[in-house]
Amino acid sequence: MKTTVVGSYPKPKWLTSIVSKFKEGKVSEEMLEEAYRDAVKAVVKDHEMAGVDIIWDGEMRREEMTSYFAERIDGFVIYGEVRVWGNNYYPKPAIVDELRYRDELAVNDYLFLKEVTDKAIKVPITGAYTIVDWSFNEYYSSKEEAVYALAEVLNVELRKLVRAGADYIQLDEPAISTHPEELEIAKNAVEITTKGVNAYLGIHICYGDYSTIFPEILEFKVDQLDFEFANRNFEDLKLLREYDFTKDLGFGCIDVHTKRIESVGEVKESIKKALEIVEPEKLYVDPDCGLKLLPREVAFKKLEVMVKAAKEVEEWLE
Ligand SMILES: [Zn+2]
Repeated sequence: MKTTVVGSYPKPKWLTSIVSKFKEGKVSEEMLEEAYRDAVKAVVKDHEMAGVDIIWDGEMRREEMTSYFAERIDGFVIYGEVRVWGNNYYPKPAIVDELRYRDELAVNDYLFLKEVTDKAIKVPITGAYTIVDWSFNEYYSSKEEAVYALAEVLNVELRKLVRAGADYIQLDEPAISTHPEELEIAKNAVEITTKGVNAYLGIHICYGDYSTIFPEILEFKVDQLDFEFANRNFEDLKLLREYDFTKDLGFGCIDVHTKRIESVGEVKESIKKALEIVEPEKLYVDPDCGLKLLPREVAFKKLEVMVKAAKEVEEWLE
């Protein structure tokens, strides 16, 4: 089995401070760029020390998983902050023109990460369905049309990533399970996004009720389905048992919504449950979701525990 991360990691506090100073015009673009690069090196070091097999750069440059992409694709504008839940706000994008590929989205991050580490790399990209679902559509005649147009744009990026050497790409689609009635649109979007893309492909889905997307989700054309299990007491494993699960499993076994650090023993027990469903070589052990909201030392310890548990299960298997 392999260990990996979903994507995000807590930003070093000094980076957050430099980014705000940059927005106030108090530090130069050159200093900001150096800070981003140093932050990636720090995050990579944390992942290497924890022993994670397949890593990403912790999404140091991404402040938000929708607007980051929208800002870099022609046809989107960002009006301002919108209240989503409680007192949380996010900069909601709006589609106001034809969506067109403008600039790379993750290729440069991938290339830099490759310079920094010899570890295997996974590139997470927010999926077309989720970006459109979390945006206003003021241009296309239907949501479906907007999703497919964006999927074409993302397809250009995925092809570029593969040309740059990326061999493992993950589409983040948390919105999928919140609109099961639009599953067909999301499925078509994945096919458009990944057509001609010669890489190992995964899809990460968190939130929502998984029972509403089974068994249709098994028909999505990806190699791996990555779900959160820890936050749901591993109850959703029953869905995998109920239907014939033949894909690789991204097995979220670390709760990212609590600062409590799991014990190695309990994570081992969880991994063993997953092994009742998939073979070890089809199992990718990871946290439920990105770790960015946790204190950095907690995120690091959780990764350490996860890797230790996976190693001990492997020894137990032998
Ligand atoms: Zn997630």
